Amino acid sequence: MKEYIEQAEAALLHTYNRYQIVLDRGEGVYLYDMNGKKYLDFVAGIAVFALGYHYPGYDEALKGQIDKLIHTSNYYYNSPAIEAAKKVKKISGMDRVFFTNSGAEAVEGAIKAARKYAWLKDGGHDHEIIAMNHSFHGRTMGALAVTGNPKYREPFEPLIGSVKYAELNDFDSVLNCVTDKTCAVILEPVQGEGGLRPAGQEFLQKLRALCDERDILLIFDEIQCGMGRTGYMFAWQRYGIKPNIMTSAKALGCGVPVGAFMMTERVAQNSLTSGDHGTTYGGNPLAAAAVDKVLEIYERDHIVDHVCQVAPYLEKRLQELTDKYDCITERRGVGLMQGLVFDHPVGETITRALEKGLLLINAGPDIIRFVPSLIITEKDIDEMIAILDTCIEG
Ligand SMILES: *Cc1c(COP(=O)(O)O)cnc(C)c1O
Repeated sequence: MKEYIEQAEAALLHTYNRYQIVLDRGEGVYLYDMNGKKYLDFVAGIAVFALGYHYPGYDEALKGQIDKLIHTSNYYYNSPAIEAAKKVKKISGMDRVFFTNSGAEAVEGAIKAARKYAWLKDGGHDHEIIAMNHSFHGRTMGALAVTGNPKYREPFEPLIGSVKYAELNDFDSVLNCVTDKTCAVILEPVQGEGGLRPAGQEFLQKLRALCDERDILLIFDEIQCGMGRTGYMFAWQRYGIKPNIMTSAKALGCGVPVGAFMMTERVAQNSLTSGDHGTTYGGNPLAAAAVDKVLEIYERDHIVDHVCQVAPYLEKRLQELTDKYDCITERRGVGLMQGLVFDHPVGETITRALEKGLLLINAGPDIIRFVPSLIITEKDIDEMIAILDTCIEG
């Protein structure tokens, strides 16, 4: 593998400090590297492989679509995109869907919709967006502008500007940011990358009321916390607080690059219209066939019910570790989106786990994040805990 890694480092732009393995194939909740070493995968491509690797029917659906048609351009209709859009509408409670190629691109679309909505109302050009500290919305210029991590933003400023940052679960901090120019509030109902922080019920309720009162659009980024991970199809359904615009990606295609932003009919009628937005690939037949199949499987095989059954066990086992080790200060998260907060950087712990055949990922320097496939069992959780238990010092 060393040779491959050297070749990779000679050709790829070095924007990632990668773990020193070359992955070759996957099966269920396991991955194998080029030497055939097996890893229990609690990363799932960062919350992407909700169905694990080679879930029955998924590969066949993609292969079938490859044999028919991979791409058409969005100037023509294609049946996989129609089927996928109908299903996304149904699960999201939204009325209109726009398919994108990634999460960041879905966030860009959501921001454009909010800006257009505000512009149609007053013709102004200085509308503001409120985002949350510790949020993560992607790496493109618009998505980066609403990402509440100065380290990611600073080298690239000026970004889209007119973004103010509030503190999740501190409603007054949001109120302090509101002006007549505020057009949207964007947040993750459960923050992922920024540290597995769930929004509070009351916070979201007050936010919804504020947005209704001032005609501000509430945008939920469900790219990581959506698609069943919290025990609801989308995390907002857990709170019963519906956004005006929402984004999805990651598990939406379970490995095929695809995202979406969705909105209510009222926002759709008063924002993006023909010519306002586009994408060459977004929602092409191959990506849409993946979405269609994934959502069919979710419904048929009750994937979200399984999350509800198995997630309390993951929580319990992680809590036991938290109680056992002084260096673990907190367990937090919702459903199969969990984090252990350490009082020291977790890089070495993750590397030790990898050596012992367990893939984990961090969320910030001192949190280990658990975002496994949604099909994991209690046995997989036991196996993960047994390995991790030998990797924690003190
Ligand atoms: C991963 C992620 C994104 C960005 O998605 P990409 O597909 O990497 O562009 C945006 N928002 C959230 C909440 C994410 O977890």
